[in-house]
Amino acid sequence: KAKSQFRGQCVLFDTAENTEMKQAIAIERELREGNLAEELYLLFQPQYSPGENRVLSFEALARWQSPKLGRVGPDQFIRVAERSGSIQKLTSILFQKGLAELATWPQDVSLSFNLSARDISDQAFILSLLGQIMKSELSPSRIEFEITETAVMSDLVTATNMIEILRSSGCKIALDDFGSGYSSFGYLDQLPLDKVKIDRSFIRRVPHSATSREIVSGIISLCRKLDLRCVLEGVETEDEMTLLESLNPDLIQGYLYGRPMSGDDARRMLSDQQVSAAIEASDQLITA
Ligand code: C2E
Ligand code: MG
Ligand code: MG
Ligand code: MG
Repeated sequence: KAKSQFRGQCVLFDTAENTEMKQAIAIERELREGNLAEELYLLFQPQYSPGENRVLSFEALARWQSPKLGRVGPDQFIRVAERSGSIQKLTSILFQKGLAELATWPQDVSLSFNLSARDISDQAFILSLLGQIMKSELSPSRIEFEITETAVMSDLVTATNMIEILRSSGCKIALDDFGSGYSSFGYLDQLPLDKVKIDRSFIRRVPHSATSREIVSGIISLCRKLDLRCVLEGVETEDEMTLLESLNPDLIQGYLYGRPMSGDDARRMLSDQQVSAAIEASDQLITA
């Protein structure tokens, strides 16, 4: 009897995969039923310029505090939202919050914002993001969109068109997680880019591997030749920094210079920075 009852049914075992699937289903439900405008928020991680000795921009990183599920990481909920088709709703909510924060920063500080595959493959959606920028009255030149090669790979032609639209409106484009995928160099050739973010997997190996150091050095000089800015992602230690400093990267982003922080803390960091710049300028006046 038991046998016939279960015939043709998928029998679920409590494997790791099964747990993961249950989790994904729960996330999907909460993405549908939760009050996302309230539960989603952004943290901001500084991107520091060693050349100018100051923070030039912050990357917005999504966080979700769900009353039912607790804290869910972006790697998890972004993937589920992509699959279930709710990603654009999330992106709009988050982008609005990012713009509101950017409006409180000095004019020479910009915002980097991550886009997903579905975001970048939909012209109506890209135009709606531009609409959000226009309404905010912020300069598009202060906004940069980060995309990964996995996000553009399934439809490179469309992604390229969308990037063109964003860039012709004055926004910047960064290729995220560079080097973590399969055929990265082809994308440097095909996509109209402003910036490349070198993946943390290289940076992490730099203290232990001369080869990794040469690879990072090579990518930086390649970027320079192609007139692309480059960012080192995930610089955590003084050790890494000492070895990477001499390569003159345009920007550094990592725990060493600042963890992802609240909007209030980002603002505080920027005003401290303005104060020290003013003190330095007045020091120069006195010694001159
Ligand atoms: P990402 O865009 O490559 O962001 C960098 C990730 O590295 C962030 O993880 C950041 O917290 C982490 N990180 C930064 N510095 C260090 C470091 O020194 N050491 C280490 N170990 N990690 C560092 P996070 O915030 O967990 O985000 C993970 C990924 O989720 C992001 O990778 C991005 O792909 C995605 N994501 C985050 N926010 C959004 C969003 O608003 N929209 C979309 N589409 N994706 C997002
Ligand atoms: Mg990013
Ligand atoms: Mg990255
Ligand atoms: Mg990443």
